[in-house]
Amino acid sequence: MRAATAAVIAFADQQYADAGYPEHSDALAAALKVRVIVGDENFAVDGPPSIVSQTPDTYAPRQRFTMFHELAHILIQRSGLEDDLLAEVDEEDAEAHLELVTNHIAGRLLIPDPVIRHYVKLHGFTPTAITEIRRQARASLAATIRRVATWQPEREATIFLAGDRYILDVASSDPWNRLRRYDRVPDLRAAVPDAELLALSPMRRRTLGLISR
Ligand SMILES: [Zn+2]
Repeated sequence: MRAATAAVIAFADQQYADAGYPEHSDALAAALKVRVIVGDENFAVDGPPSIVSQTPDTYAPRQRFTMFHELAHILIQRSGLEDDLLAEVDEEDAEAHLELVTNHIAGRLLIPDPVIRHYVKLHGFTPTAITEIRRQARASLAATIRRVATWQPEREATIFLAGDRYILDVASSDPWNRLRRYDRVPDLRAAVPDAELLALSPMRRRTLGLISR
């Protein structure tokens, strides 16, 4: 990982820990002394005063992630490293890179380390732990599998959601992973013999799979 990226993530983690890992984005905003206003668009300025503007629909899982995304922007601005972050890549890629790092930090705010540790301790590093982490964090499955797949740098993991015949989503920190979204898997067990599988919804034939090394 690039140096400024790593430093910004470490700064955000520390700020979140200092705030006591508040579960609700409003509580984190209060701890960070950020004023949340309702507006026509989503944006964040550290100021002073620090302001996050949110569109009115703030309760669905995706909106919760959006709020943490804006707070992540504030944390990046407060780290004093935003320019270093932008300078890590070519100029035309700078904004996309900033958004990528912001989303990564938002994922860490949405699903904090202590929540992952708790459920992995209870259930092992398993699909069951992933569903419990998701339920506790009230996060989307897409955000949860991305967060958990990259949770521990030393653990290479591939987490996927399979439908009746296709892979619907994949998150992986394993450079050898060959599983891709939209792969056809008429026989899931044969396609990924080393995966641990959990039937999520028998009605809709959704299966959550985990391959960890
Ligand atoms: Zn953004």
